[in-house]
Amino acid sequence: MNAKITVLAGDGVGPEVVNEACKVLETVANRFDHRIEFTDAMIGGGAIDKLGTPLPEETIEICKDSDAVLLGAVGGPKWDDPLASVRPEQGLLGLRKALGVFANLRPVRVYPQLAKSGPLKEELVANVDMLVIRELTGGIYFGDRGKKPDATGEFAFDTMGYSTGEVERIVRLAANKAKGRRNKLTSVDKANVLEVSRLWRSTAERVMRDEFADVGFEHGLVDAAAMHLIQRPADFDVIVTGNLFGDILTDEASVLAGSMGLLPSASLGDSGPGLYEPIHGSAPDIAGKGIANPIGMILSAAMLCRESLGWHKEAESIEAAVEQVVAEGVRTPDMALAGETTVGTIEMGRKIVLAIRELATSASAA
Ligand code: NAD
Repeated sequence: MNAKITVLAGDGVGPEVVNEACKVLETVANRFDHRIEFTDAMIGGGAIDKLGTPLPEETIEICKDSDAVLLGAVGGPKWDDPLASVRPEQGLLGLRKALGVFANLRPVRVYPQLAKSGPLKEELVANVDMLVIRELTGGIYFGDRGKKPDATGEFAFDTMGYSTGEVERIVRLAANKAKGRRNKLTSVDKANVLEVSRLWRSTAERVMRDEFADVGFEHGLVDAAAMHLIQRPADFDVIVTGNLFGDILTDEASVLAGSMGLLPSASLGDSGPGLYEPIHGSAPDIAGKGIANPIGMILSAAMLCRESLGWHKEAESIEAAVEQVVAEGVRTPDMALAGETTVGTIEMGRKIVLAIRELATSASAA
Protein backbone atom coordinates (compact mmCIF):
# COMPACT_ATOMS: atom_id res chain seq x y z
CA MET A 1 0.00 0.00 0.00
CA ASN A 2 1.07 3.59 -0.66
CA ALA A 3 0.52 6.05 2.17
CA LYS A 4 0.65 9.84 2.07
CA ILE A 5 1.77 11.36 5.36
CA THR A 6 2.03 15.07 6.08
CA VAL A 7 4.84 15.94 8.45
CA LEU A 8 4.42 19.05 10.61
CA ALA A 9 7.67 19.13 12.56
CA GLY A 10 6.81 22.42 14.31
CA ASP A 11 8.96 24.08 16.97
CA GLY A 12 11.46 23.23 19.72
CA VAL A 13 12.07 19.49 20.01
CA GLY A 14 9.34 18.83 17.41
CA PRO A 15 11.72 18.38 14.45
CA GLU A 16 14.11 16.26 16.55
CA VAL A 17 11.48 13.69 17.55
CA VAL A 18 9.61 13.77 14.23
CA ASN A 19 12.82 12.80 12.39
CA GLU A 20 13.10 9.63 14.45
CA ALA A 21 9.42 8.75 13.93
CA CYS A 22 9.85 9.12 10.16
CA LYS A 23 12.83 6.74 10.22
CA VAL A 24 10.74 4.23 12.16
CA LEU A 25 7.85 4.54 9.69
CA GLU A 26 10.27 4.03 6.77
CA THR A 27 11.57 0.91 8.49
CA VAL A 28 8.15 -0.70 8.95
CA ALA A 29 7.15 0.35 5.45
CA ASN A 30 10.21 -1.49 4.06
CA ARG A 31 9.57 -4.50 6.22
CA PHE A 32 5.94 -4.86 5.17
CA ASP A 33 6.32 -3.79 1.51
CA HIS A 34 4.61 -0.42 1.65
CA ARG A 35 5.62 2.93 0.26
CA ILE A 36 5.26 6.15 2.24
CA GLU A 37 5.31 9.58 0.65
CA PHE A 38 6.19 12.22 3.28
CA THR A 39 5.32 15.89 2.65
CA ASP A 40 6.61 18.61 4.98
CA ALA A 41 4.47 21.62 5.87
CA MET A 42 4.66 24.51 8.33
CA ILE A 43 2.79 25.13 11.57
CA GLY A 44 3.26 27.05 14.82
CA GLY A 45 5.95 29.58 15.71
CA GLY A 46 8.12 28.81 12.68
CA ALA A 47 5.15 29.50 10.42
CA ILE A 48 4.44 32.79 12.24
CA ASP A 49 8.05 33.90 11.69
CA LYS A 50 8.06 32.99 8.00
CA LEU A 51 4.49 33.62 6.92
CA GLY A 52 2.84 35.64 9.70
CA THR A 53 0.31 32.91 10.51
CA PRO A 54 0.55 29.76 12.68
CA LEU A 55 -1.56 27.78 10.22
CA PRO A 56 -1.00 28.65 6.56
CA GLU A 57 -3.85 27.76 4.21
CA GLU A 58 -1.41 25.60 2.23
CA THR A 59 -0.75 23.48 5.34
CA ILE A 60 -4.45 22.75 5.76
CA GLU A 61 -4.73 21.74 2.11
CA ILE A 62 -1.68 19.46 2.26
CA CYS A 63 -2.99 17.83 5.47
CA LYS A 64 -6.46 17.25 4.03
CA ASP A 65 -4.93 15.66 0.95
CA SER A 66 -3.02 13.07 3.01
CA ASP A 67 -3.87 9.81 4.80
CA ALA A 68 -2.53 11.03 8.13
CA VAL A 69 -0.68 13.90 9.76
CA LEU A 70 2.35 13.55 12.01
CA LEU A 71 2.92 16.58 14.25
CA GLY A 72 5.91 17.29 16.52
CA ALA A 73 5.00 20.22 18.80
CA VAL A 74 4.36 23.94 18.56
CA GLY A 75 5.27 26.95 20.68
CA GLY A 76 8.14 28.34 22.68
CA PRO A 77 9.20 31.37 24.72
CA LYS A 78 9.69 33.49 21.60
CA TRP A 79 5.95 33.41 20.89
CA ASP A 80 4.64 33.04 24.46
CA ASP A 81 3.34 36.60 25.00
CA PRO A 82 -0.27 35.95 26.09
CA LEU A 83 -1.31 39.32 24.66
CA ALA A 84 0.03 38.57 21.17
CA SER A 85 -2.75 38.39 18.60
CA VAL A 86 -1.05 35.53 16.73
CA ARG A 87 0.09 32.52 18.76
CA PRO A 88 1.43 29.07 17.81
CA GLU A 89 -1.36 27.21 19.70
CA GLN A 90 -3.91 28.81 17.37
CA GLY A 91 -2.31 26.72 14.64
CA LEU A 92 -3.00 23.54 16.57
CA LEU A 93 -6.59 24.42 17.52
CA GLY A 94 -7.24 25.55 13.93
CA LEU A 95 -5.82 22.35 12.48
CA ARG A 96 -7.93 20.14 14.78
CA LYS A 97 -11.01 22.09 13.74
CA ALA A 98 -10.10 22.02 10.04
CA LEU A 99 -9.59 18.24 10.12
CA GLY A 100 -12.74 17.68 12.23
CA VAL A 101 -10.79 15.52 14.68
CA PHE A 102 -13.19 15.49 17.61
CA ALA A 103 -11.64 12.68 19.64
CA ASN A 104 -8.21 12.76 21.24
CA LEU A 105 -6.98 9.31 22.26
CA ARG A 106 -4.19 9.11 24.82
CA PRO A 107 -3.11 5.63 25.86
CA VAL A 108 -1.19 5.55 29.12
CA ARG A 109 0.76 2.38 29.66
CA VAL A 110 3.41 1.92 32.27
CA TYR A 111 6.37 -0.22 31.26
CA PRO A 112 7.21 -2.46 34.25
CA GLN A 113 10.88 -1.47 33.99
CA LEU A 114 9.92 2.20 34.35
CA ALA A 115 7.40 1.83 37.17
CA LYS A 116 10.01 3.19 39.55
CA SER A 117 10.83 6.32 37.53
CA GLY A 118 7.65 8.30 38.30
CA PRO A 119 6.65 10.01 41.53
CA LEU A 120 4.04 7.35 42.48
CA LYS A 121 4.69 4.07 44.29
CA GLU A 122 5.77 1.28 41.97
CA GLU A 123 2.99 -1.09 43.10
CA LEU A 124 0.34 1.54 42.30
CA VAL A 125 1.39 2.11 38.70
CA ALA A 126 2.81 -1.31 37.76
CA ASN A 127 -0.31 -2.55 35.93
CA VAL A 128 -1.61 0.70 34.50
CA ASP A 129 -2.93 0.36 30.96
CA MET A 130 -5.61 2.92 30.20
CA LEU A 131 -6.91 4.92 27.29
CA VAL A 132 -8.15 8.45 27.98
CA ILE A 133 -10.44 9.85 25.29
CA ARG A 134 -10.95 13.59 25.35
CA GLU A 135 -13.54 15.46 23.28
CA LEU A 136 -11.47 17.89 21.25
CA THR A 137 -13.52 20.25 19.12
CA GLY A 138 -16.31 21.38 21.47
CA GLY A 139 -16.81 22.45 25.05
CA ILE A 140 -15.44 25.51 26.76
CA TYR A 141 -12.43 25.92 24.46
CA PHE A 142 -14.78 26.68 21.60
CA GLY A 143 -17.68 28.39 23.42
CA ASP A 144 -18.67 32.04 23.48
CA ARG A 145 -16.22 34.18 25.40
CA GLY A 146 -15.72 37.79 26.21
CA LYS A 147 -14.62 40.51 28.54
CA LYS A 148 -16.38 43.68 29.65
CA PRO A 149 -15.81 46.43 32.22
CA ASP A 150 -17.48 46.08 35.60
CA ALA A 151 -17.44 47.95 38.92
CA THR A 152 -14.38 46.01 40.17
CA GLY A 153 -12.40 46.31 36.95
CA GLU A 154 -13.31 43.76 34.33
CA PHE A 155 -15.52 40.70 33.99
CA ALA A 156 -14.41 37.86 31.71
CA PHE A 157 -16.34 34.73 30.74
CA ASP A 158 -16.03 31.53 28.73
CA THR A 159 -18.99 29.24 28.14
CA MET A 160 -19.11 25.47 28.08
CA GLY A 161 -21.65 23.78 25.83
CA TYR A 162 -22.17 20.33 24.33
CA SER A 163 -24.91 19.11 22.02
CA THR A 164 -26.47 15.65 22.20
CA GLY A 165 -24.80 14.78 18.89
CA GLU A 166 -21.34 15.78 20.10
CA VAL A 167 -21.69 13.59 23.20
CA GLU A 168 -23.16 10.64 21.28
CA ARG A 169 -20.32 10.44 18.77
CA ILE A 170 -17.50 10.58 21.34
CA VAL A 171 -19.22 8.08 23.67
CA ARG A 172 -19.76 5.69 20.74
CA LEU A 173 -16.12 5.96 19.72
CA ALA A 174 -15.00 5.37 23.31
CA ALA A 175 -17.34 2.39 23.79
CA ASN A 176 -16.03 0.80 20.60
CA LYS A 177 -12.46 1.25 21.82
CA ALA A 178 -13.41 -0.32 25.19
CA LYS A 179 -14.76 -3.37 23.33
CA GLY A 180 -11.32 -3.99 21.86
CA ARG A 181 -9.71 -3.70 25.31
CA ARG A 182 -10.91 -4.72 28.81
CA ASN A 183 -14.51 -3.77 28.01
CA LYS A 184 -14.92 -1.08 30.64
CA LEU A 185 -15.81 2.58 30.10
CA THR A 186 -15.80 5.40 32.65
CA SER A 187 -17.49 8.66 31.64
CA VAL A 188 -16.26 11.69 33.58
CA ASP A 189 -18.35 14.83 34.13
CA LYS A 190 -19.43 17.30 36.79
CA ALA A 191 -23.15 16.47 36.71
CA ASN A 192 -23.71 17.48 40.35
CA VAL A 193 -23.10 21.13 39.36
CA LEU A 194 -23.12 21.73 35.60
CA GLU A 195 -26.14 21.63 33.31
CA VAL A 196 -23.91 20.70 30.40
CA SER A 197 -22.63 17.70 32.39
CA ARG A 198 -26.18 16.55 33.09
CA LEU A 199 -26.81 16.45 29.35
CA TRP A 200 -23.47 14.67 28.90
CA ARG A 201 -24.41 12.08 31.55
CA SER A 202 -27.95 11.33 30.37
CA THR A 203 -26.77 11.07 26.75
CA ALA A 204 -23.88 8.77 27.66
CA GLU A 205 -26.23 6.60 29.73
CA ARG A 206 -28.70 6.26 26.85
CA VAL A 207 -26.04 5.45 24.23
CA MET A 208 -24.49 2.83 26.49
CA ARG A 209 -27.83 1.25 27.44
CA ASP A 210 -29.22 1.16 23.88
CA GLU A 211 -26.08 0.34 21.91
CA PHE A 212 -23.41 -1.07 24.22
CA ALA A 213 -25.23 -3.02 26.94
CA ASP A 214 -22.36 -5.55 26.85
CA VAL A 215 -19.73 -2.94 27.81
CA GLY A 216 -19.14 -2.27 31.53
CA PHE A 217 -20.04 1.36 32.20
CA GLU A 218 -19.74 3.81 35.08
CA HIS A 219 -19.84 7.57 35.63
CA GLY A 220 -17.35 9.53 37.69
CA LEU A 221 -17.31 13.14 38.84
CA VAL A 222 -14.20 14.88 37.61
CA ASP A 223 -12.95 15.79 41.11
CA ALA A 224 -13.25 12.18 42.30
CA ALA A 225 -11.78 10.87 39.04
CA ALA A 226 -8.73 13.11 39.51
CA MET A 227 -8.22 11.49 42.91
CA HIS A 228 -8.83 7.92 41.75
CA LEU A 229 -6.36 8.35 38.89
CA ILE A 230 -3.66 8.67 41.51
CA GLN A 231 -5.10 6.31 44.16
CA ARG A 232 -6.02 3.35 41.97
CA PRO A 233 -4.98 4.07 38.37
CA ALA A 234 -4.84 0.41 37.34
CA ASP A 235 -8.63 0.13 37.75
CA PHE A 236 -9.31 2.31 34.69
CA ASP A 237 -9.63 0.90 31.19
CA VAL A 238 -11.17 3.59 28.92
CA ILE A 239 -12.09 7.05 30.21
CA VAL A 240 -14.20 9.43 28.11
CA THR A 241 -14.65 13.10 28.99
CA GLY A 242 -15.08 16.62 27.64
CA ASN A 243 -12.44 19.00 26.39
CA LEU A 244 -11.54 20.89 29.60
CA PHE A 245 -11.69 17.93 31.99
CA GLY A 246 -9.80 15.83 29.45
CA ASP A 247 -7.06 18.41 29.10
CA ILE A 248 -6.42 18.30 32.84
CA LEU A 249 -6.91 14.56 33.43
CA THR A 250 -4.68 13.54 30.52
CA ASP A 251 -1.78 15.58 31.91
CA GLU A 252 -2.37 14.04 35.32
CA ALA A 253 -2.48 10.55 33.80
CA SER A 254 0.79 11.22 31.96
CA VAL A 255 2.60 11.42 35.30
CA LEU A 256 1.83 7.73 35.82
CA ALA A 257 4.10 6.72 32.94
CA GLY A 258 7.14 8.40 34.46
CA SER A 259 7.89 10.89 31.68
CA MET A 260 5.89 13.11 29.33
CA GLY A 261 8.30 12.07 26.61
CA LEU A 262 6.89 8.53 26.52
CA LEU A 263 3.26 9.15 25.68
CA PRO A 264 1.59 9.24 22.26
CA SER A 265 -1.75 10.57 21.11
CA ALA A 266 -4.09 10.31 18.17
CA SER A 267 -6.82 12.77 17.22
CA LEU A 268 -9.54 11.24 15.08
CA GLY A 269 -12.72 12.32 13.29
CA ASP A 270 -15.45 10.41 11.48
CA SER A 271 -13.48 10.47 8.25
CA GLY A 272 -10.41 12.14 6.79
CA PRO A 273 -6.84 12.09 8.04
CA GLY A 274 -6.06 11.60 11.73
CA LEU A 275 -3.56 13.79 13.56
CA TYR A 276 -0.80 12.06 15.53
CA GLU A 277 1.41 13.83 18.05
CA PRO A 278 3.20 13.13 21.31
CA ILE A 279 1.45 14.60 24.34
CA HIS A 280 4.39 16.81 25.24
CA GLY A 281 5.03 20.34 24.06
CA SER A 282 8.06 21.84 22.35
CA ALA A 283 10.24 21.43 25.49
CA PRO A 284 12.26 24.63 24.94
CA ASP A 285 14.45 23.81 27.95
CA ILE A 286 16.01 20.86 26.12
CA ALA A 287 15.45 21.83 22.45
CA GLY A 288 18.59 21.62 20.34
CA LYS A 289 20.44 19.49 22.89
CA GLY A 290 19.68 16.19 21.17
CA ILE A 291 18.32 14.59 24.35
CA ALA A 292 14.52 14.69 23.80
CA ASN A 293 12.83 11.35 24.19
CA PRO A 294 11.39 10.34 20.79
CA ILE A 295 9.30 7.44 22.17
CA GLY A 296 6.04 9.42 22.52
CA MET A 297 6.39 10.54 18.91
CA ILE A 298 7.33 7.04 17.70
CA LEU A 299 4.37 5.47 19.52
CA SER A 300 2.18 8.16 17.90
CA ALA A 301 3.48 6.88 14.56
CA ALA A 302 2.40 3.37 15.64
CA MET A 303 -1.08 4.73 16.37
CA LEU A 304 -1.04 6.34 12.91
CA CYS A 305 -0.32 2.96 11.33
CA ARG A 306 -3.19 1.30 13.20
CA GLU A 307 -5.87 4.00 13.15
CA SER A 308 -5.36 5.74 9.79
CA LEU A 309 -3.72 3.10 7.61
CA GLY A 310 -5.15 -0.10 9.04
CA TRP A 311 -1.56 -1.39 9.41
CA HIS A 312 -2.05 -3.47 12.57
CA LYS A 313 1.02 -5.72 12.30
CA GLU A 314 3.11 -2.66 11.53
CA ALA A 315 1.83 -0.85 14.63
CA GLU A 316 2.50 -3.94 16.75
CA SER A 317 6.04 -4.23 15.43
CA ILE A 318 6.80 -0.62 16.43
CA GLU A 319 5.28 -1.13 19.89
CA ALA A 320 7.15 -4.41 20.38
CA ALA A 321 10.43 -2.73 19.37
CA VAL A 322 9.89 0.11 21.87
CA GLU A 323 9.08 -2.45 24.55
CA GLN A 324 12.25 -4.39 23.77
CA VAL A 325 14.46 -1.30 23.86
CA VAL A 326 12.95 -0.19 27.18
CA ALA A 327 13.43 -3.71 28.57
CA GLU A 328 17.08 -3.67 27.43
CA GLY A 329 17.59 -0.59 29.62
CA VAL A 330 18.07 2.04 26.88
CA ARG A 331 17.14 5.39 28.45
CA THR A 332 16.99 9.03 27.44
CA PRO A 333 17.70 11.34 30.43
CA ASP A 334 14.00 11.89 31.25
CA MET A 335 13.48 8.13 31.77
CA ALA A 336 16.67 7.43 33.66
CA LEU A 337 17.11 6.90 37.38
CA ALA A 338 20.12 8.53 39.02
CA GLY A 339 23.35 6.91 37.87
CA GLU A 340 21.86 5.15 34.81
CA THR A 341 23.63 5.59 31.47
CA THR A 342 21.64 7.58 28.93
CA VAL A 343 21.44 7.99 25.15
CA GLY A 344 20.29 10.90 22.99
CA THR A 345 17.30 11.26 20.66
CA ILE A 346 19.01 9.88 17.55
CA GLU A 347 20.50 6.89 19.35
CA MET A 348 17.14 6.00 20.91
CA GLY A 349 15.55 6.18 17.43
CA ARG A 350 18.36 4.03 16.00
CA LYS A 351 17.91 1.37 18.69
CA ILE A 352 14.18 1.18 17.96
CA VAL A 353 14.81 0.86 14.22
CA LEU A 354 17.32 -1.94 14.92
CA ALA A 355 14.83 -3.68 17.21
CA ILE A 356 12.16 -3.61 14.47
CA ARG A 357 14.64 -5.28 12.09
CA GLU A 358 15.77 -7.82 14.69
CA LEU A 359 12.20 -8.76 15.58
CA ALA A 360 11.45 -9.18 11.86
CA THR A 361 14.46 -11.48 11.44
CA SER A 362 13.55 -13.62 14.44
CA ALA A 363 9.90 -13.81 13.28
CA SER A 364 10.91 -15.03 9.81
CA ALA A 365 13.38 -17.54 11.31
CA ALA A 366 10.71 -18.98 13.60
P1 NAD B 1 6.51 20.67 27.54
O1 NAD B 1 5.71 19.44 27.37
O2 NAD B 1 7.13 21.23 26.34
O3 NAD B 1 7.65 20.40 28.63
C1 NAD B 1 7.37 20.02 29.99
C2 NAD B 1 8.59 19.31 30.57
O4 NAD B 1 8.70 18.01 29.99
C3 NAD B 1 9.90 20.02 30.27
O5 NAD B 1 10.76 19.90 31.37
C4 NAD B 1 10.47 19.26 29.10
O6 NAD B 1 11.88 19.28 29.00
C5 NAD B 1 9.95 17.86 29.35
N1 NAD B 1 9.74 17.16 28.08
C6 NAD B 1 8.77 17.40 27.18
N2 NAD B 1 8.91 16.59 26.12
C7 NAD B 1 9.99 15.83 26.36
C8 NAD B 1 10.66 14.82 25.63
N3 NAD B 1 10.23 14.40 24.42
N4 NAD B 1 11.76 14.26 26.17
C9 NAD B 1 12.20 14.63 27.37
N5 NAD B 1 11.61 15.58 28.12
C10 NAD B 1 10.53 16.19 27.61
O7 NAD B 1 5.53 21.74 28.22
P2 NAD B 1 5.80 23.27 28.58
O8 NAD B 1 7.21 23.47 29.01
O9 NAD B 1 4.70 23.65 29.48
O10 NAD B 1 5.56 24.04 27.22
C11 NAD B 1 6.60 24.43 26.33
C12 NAD B 1 5.99 25.01 25.07
O11 NAD B 1 5.26 23.97 24.40
C13 NAD B 1 4.99 26.14 25.34
O12 NAD B 1 5.17 27.13 24.36
C14 NAD B 1 3.64 25.47 25.20
O13 NAD B 1 2.64 26.36 24.78
C15 NAD B 1 3.93 24.44 24.12
N6 NAD B 1 3.04 23.25 24.13
C16 NAD B 1 2.74 22.73 22.93
C17 NAD B 1 1.97 21.57 22.88
C18 NAD B 1 1.71 20.96 21.53
O14 NAD B 1 2.36 21.32 20.57
N7 NAD B 1 0.79 20.03 21.45
C19 NAD B 1 1.53 20.98 24.04
C20 NAD B 1 1.89 21.53 25.27
C21 NAD B 1 2.67 22.68 25.32
